[in-house]
Order: sequence, then C-alpha cells, then structure tokens
Amino acid sequence: MSTSATGSKTQNGGGVAAPPDVDAVVVGAGFAGLYMLHRLRGMGLSVRVFERGSGVGGTWYWNRYPGARCDTDSVEYSYEFSDELQQEWRWTERFATQPEILRYAEHVADRLDLRRDIRFESTVTEAAFDEAAGHWRVATDNGVRISATYFIMATGCLSAVNRPSFDGLDRFEGEWYHTGAWPHEKVSFAGKRVGIIGTGSSAIQSIPVIAAEARHLTVFQRQANYSIPARNAPLDAAKYAAIREQYGEWRRRGKENPAGCWWVLNPATAEELSEEERRRELEARWQKGGLSMYGVFNDVLVNPAANDVATDFIRSKIRAQVHDPRVAALLSPHSFIGCKRICLDTDYYATFNRPNVTLVDISNAPIEEITRTGVRTGGSDFELDTIVFAIGFDAMTGPLLRVDIRGREGQTLKAKWTDGPRSYLGLAVEGFPNLFTITGPSSPSVLTNMIPAIEQHVEWIADCIAHALARGRPRIKATRAAEDAWISHHDEVAAGTVFPGCNSWYVGANIPGKPRRVTPYTGGFPAYIEKCEEVAANGYEGFTLAV
Ligand code: NAP
Repeated sequence: MSTSATGSKTQNGGGVAAPPDVDAVVVGAGFAGLYMLHRLRGMGLSVRVFERGSGVGGTWYWNRYPGARCDTDSVEYSYEFSDELQQEWRWTERFATQPEILRYAEHVADRLDLRRDIRFESTVTEAAFDEAAGHWRVATDNGVRISATYFIMATGCLSAVNRPSFDGLDRFEGEWYHTGAWPHEKVSFAGKRVGIIGTGSSAIQSIPVIAAEARHLTVFQRQANYSIPARNAPLDAAKYAAIREQYGEWRRRGKENPAGCWWVLNPATAEELSEEERRRELEARWQKGGLSMYGVFNDVLVNPAANDVATDFIRSKIRAQVHDPRVAALLSPHSFIGCKRICLDTDYYATFNRPNVTLVDISNAPIEEITRTGVRTGGSDFELDTIVFAIGFDAMTGPLLRVDIRGREGQTLKAKWTDGPRSYLGLAVEGFPNLFTITGPSSPSVLTNMIPAIEQHVEWIADCIAHALARGRPRIKATRAAEDAWISHHDEVAAGTVFPGCNSWYVGANIPGKPRRVTPYTGGFPAYIEKCEEVAANGYEGFTLAV
C-alpha cells in the first residue's frame, strides 16, 4: 500500500486513527480519472485509480460501434494542461475516430506514466464514509478493500448503458449488441438482416456504416433527431500548424464560448436579423458542419421563436435529401433544436434513399417484444439476424448511483437523490464529506466540450484539496445552504431555456421512473467558471473544513 500524506492526524474517539491506505481513490480511468491522478500525484499525494475496463479511455474504451467518432473538432478535444502534450500529438481528421481518441488516451497514460497506479478490471461497488476515522472505505468487485481520505468519482456522464429490457430478448436466436458496450472484435453485418433501435448520436453515426454492409437494415425510430452534416475531412496541415502555434489563444477563446468550444456564437438574436441574414447564417453553419448550429442565433436555446427559425431550416434540408416525402416527414423532428443533443452525421439522411434501408416509426407503437427471430411492433414482425441497441445511457446520475455510496450517518446517495440529484456546483454533495464528482450533475458537463470541462473540474478539486491540506484540515464538506442556493439557481436558469421542453436524456426521460429534471447546468461554461473561481477566491465559500 502507498503511504498517505493526509490522514495521520485524524482523531478516533480520543486516540489517533490509523492513516488511510492512500490519500485518494479515483474511480475511472477515462480523461477525468487520468488527469486527476496526474494532478494529485503532482501534489505529492498517493492515489489509487480503479477502472472497470481492461484499458484506459473510459467512454472511448467502450463505445467502439461502427462509425464512432467525436463530434467536437479533434483540435479542440484534447488536454491543454501540458503544452508539450498538445504539441507532440497529431490528429489526422477534423473529427477523430474512436480508435484514434483511444490511442490518444493511451499515449497520455504512457507519457505520464499513469498505469502503475491504475487497477484495471476492478469495479468499485461500495464506498462508505467512516466518520470517526475521516476516511472513505472503498470496496471493489474483485475483493479489494482500501481506505482513502478523498473519494473522487471520475466515472463520466455517459458510462452507464441503458440496458435493453425488452420482453423476450433472452429468447432471440440472433446476435445483439449495445453501441455503448461494443465488442473489441469487428462485428460483421455482411449478408445479414440488421435492426437498429434508436436514432440518437450513436445510431446516426452507425446507420450509414451498417447500411453499407448489411443485406438489409431496419431502423426503429421513437423520436426523430436533428442532425447536421459533420463535413469530416483530413486536417489541413498548414491550418493545423497555425492552430498549434496559437493553441493558447484558441483555448482562451474556447473558455468564452457557452459550450467551451471554438465555434462562434452569433451576437445577434434571430429577431435582430433580416430574413435574408438569418438564412445566410443558417446556410453558412450548415455548410461548415459541426456543432456551430448551437450558436446560430444568440437566443436559439432560450427563445422558442428563434428556435423555430432554425428548425424550419433544418427540416427543409431533410426534405431536400430524402427522396420519399413520407420518410422525410418521419425523419423531421418537431421538437426544439438543442433541447436534445444535436447530432452530426455523414450521409445519415441520404442513407434512407438506399433500397436496403427501412424506417419504422415506433412513436405510437412501442416495441412489444423481441421474438425468437426479430422484433415485434405495431402488430408486425420484423425478421432479423442481428439487433443493435443504440438506446443510450442512464446519463449523468447513472454512473454515480450504480456505486453504493454512503455518506454521513449512513445516508446513501441514492436516498439523497430520490427526487433528482442535488449537488454544490456538480462538484460536491452535502452530507458526503471529501467526495468529489468530476463533471457531476448541475455542472455544465455534457453541454460543453468535455475535455476542458474535465480539466476545469480536476484543477478546481486539486486546488480545493491543496487548500484544505495546507490548513491541516483535510475534511471538506459542502454546506446545505450552498447546495440549496446552487440548485435553485440551476433550476431557475434551466426554466428559461428550451431544455425542459423535450423528452431527452438531459431530463432523464429516456429511463423509466427516473425523476425528471434538467441535469446539466444550462447557464454556460463561462458563467460557471466564474462562479467556481469566485467560490475558491472567497476561501471555498459554501464549504467547511475540519480536522
Ligand atoms: P441517445 O441520444 O439517448 O439515443 C438513444 C436512442 O434510443 C433514442 O433515439 C431513443 O429514443 C431510443 N430509445 C431509447 N430507449 C428506447 C426504447 N425503449 N424503445 C425505442 N427506442 C428507444 O443515446 P446515444 O445515441 O448513445 O447518445 C447519447 C449521447 O452520447 C449523445 O447525445 C451525445 O452526447 C453522446 N454521443 C456523442 C457522440 C459523438 O461525439 N459523436 C456519439 C455518440 C454519442 P427517444 O429519443 O425517443 O428517447
């Protein structure tokens, strides 16, 4: 066991408690866990990371489905804490593939010598705060028991898959896969009748790829989604070199964008523009591709009228691509754009012109059951050799709640969050001292470029721990008042946006029984960073420190 630097002074019923095994346990070796380990190590602390997979990469370790890519530009989707790292790594395409991103995570792990503190194929199942000792006692599924002063959940927002619970799945005689837990070996669709359930980002990326290989592809759609052309291409060497020369400046600009991205937010509201100017703005962003449609008008996410202008435009683009007007109508969403995650695609809509692709609308006829030979819905049977479940995740809270986390007086996180998550800044939870959540509920997380969001959290947590340790009072607790105030601000901001108005995973609508509330912070990355910095500058306002 490593020796801890944090726990030797803890009192236990008048005596001096044994120090914890390590200063910090970190759960997850994705981009959050890797950087947290590096940062805490740099402070001289002992750290143990537990990772469910057999390698690093988190989301990018598991999501190996056909066509998987990031929909943030690759030049923006990397760590900025080390200039050496960002200078030496070379992305090849505008939107990096899953294998390339995984190679990047592996490169970082090797470059920073992180693997020696990571235990792979180890799932943390329980963590309980031992109040007397002031330690977390953590258990894994492979029998490890370890104590730590700090317990840090770096489990990501989209790592708990929404498991298919359709009746009859166990009887299905074909093969089935979930996009979020894809096999490491290539899955062959050649000559097969394939069905895919879901039309979110994962499906929209994989449908064109599967359709090109399968004998027939049947797409089961519950709600249509807005998708923008990715316009992926190899990176232009000269432009990329120019970005690398000015990386600091680009990163700084990203921090001024509501999503932490480099696309430009239109300063004008839709109303301030003429019809011609709106059309030009929409067309320019459509042609550029990527996620810049989020910034087409300053008020697109808060003003339904502005949102309508954008959605009318995109529906016209869908009609222009899909030959059969009935299919085009089914593929055209009528919800607000942005209240569900905007998708990026390569040839998604055009794929429905292929003779070997069928769209099945299940909006009014849910899947009744999986039969021995396929899918039954709306009284019809669809014969299939392979089913792909692209049904998403128990997002944001799922990865936290699948660990049995117990705070003060044995209170479970699950019980505390019965009516939905409550957290101070998405970083700490009242009643759970020394627990930190990286990109937790009520932080901007999934509404931002994830890597800058992760870096901002990791650095804030590390600084907070350093602050507590420097004062000889390692026990850090969020107060109830601070948590309440943050959640009421969070809810108030969300209420003024389009987010509550859709059945999306942002509000938990995809998981039966999940309390419905907007889970990520919708006030934008810059406002959030400012708040976190203010809290730190005021001596970690809203937290109490204790021995
Ligand atoms: P998702 O967006 O939640 O999509 C799941 C799909 O499955 C939806 O179409 C959903 O329909 C459908 N579905 C769920 N349960 C169903 C059921 N019981 N019956 C029928 N249909 C059902 O999941 P995802 O596509 O995996 O994407 C999740 C998030 O991951 C994205 O929003 C994005 O943030 C991230 N992601 C990013 C990338 C990228 O960077 N390119 C790629 C993939 C994913 P409803 O819409 O009706 O609920």
